[in-house]
Amino acid sequence: MSIAANLIRPVVICGPSGTGKSTLLKKLFVEFPDRFGFSVSHTTRAPRPGEENGTSYHFVTREQFLDLVKADGFIEHAEFSGNMYGTSVKAVEDVKKGGKMCILDIDTQGVKLIKKNHPYLNPLYVFISPPSLSSLKTRLTGRGTESEQSMSARLAAAVGELDYAKSGAFDVVVVNDDLERAYNVLKQVIIDGKTEAGDKLPHFEDK
Ligand code: ADP
Ligand code: 5GP
Repeated sequence: MSIAANLIRPVVICGPSGTGKSTLLKKLFVEFPDRFGFSVSHTTRAPRPGEENGTSYHFVTREQFLDLVKADGFIEHAEFSGNMYGTSVKAVEDVKKGGKMCILDIDTQGVKLIKKNHPYLNPLYVFISPPSLSSLKTRLTGRGTESEQSMSARLAAAVGELDYAKSGAFDVVVVNDDLERAYNVLKQVIIDGKTEAGDKLPHFEDK
């Protein structure tokens, strides 16, 4: 893939909640602040400690979210674990205007909607996989941000997300086992365009 094409092709990052997407992306934005731009989604969920409005998400009320839906302001939107999440047209355009590669962190419902309704965006679809379901549970618990109910919803969603990944919906899989190893694979894939550097989806015996 040429560098020019690589610069403009958006990257969709998807994977079960707690698998380490934000951790990996944070490292990428710190190392390459001028190269990548994050598509800041809207959400109705409450901010977690350390999350900043306008950087991690645009934190809005359900009413504000639904107003934006009515105004056709979203490329895609979905409900996840009792909250609404959506990618606004503006979020993606803002990154494009800055000439950076646009990175979207969305769930599998969003992936399906982009594939169906916006194929012209032609993103590279990257699935970040946990090494096992038990490690996913340990990470979600360790993060200490979710209620029991939210944890159950996220783990239940993970099973469907892993099934979707198994169907071959993603261009590349990166297994976030060791953080540094996974980060290096991710960089090879999205910076060097080496999609063949990706991992195999693990066989989830504990699913
Ligand atoms: P996501 O954005 O996918 O929901 P996070 O980036 O918030 O996930 O990571 C969930 C938790 O797992 C965090 O506490 C994070 O520090 C931890 N974590 C991320 N990557 C790894 C890894 N490779 N090994 C162990 N823990 C990790
Ligand atoms: P979290 O609450 O853990 O930040 O995110 C929960 C899930 O929502 C994750 O799978 C994340 O990728 C997804 N998500 C975040 N923003 C969006 C978005 O704009 N659209 C969709 N469809 N999913 C999103």
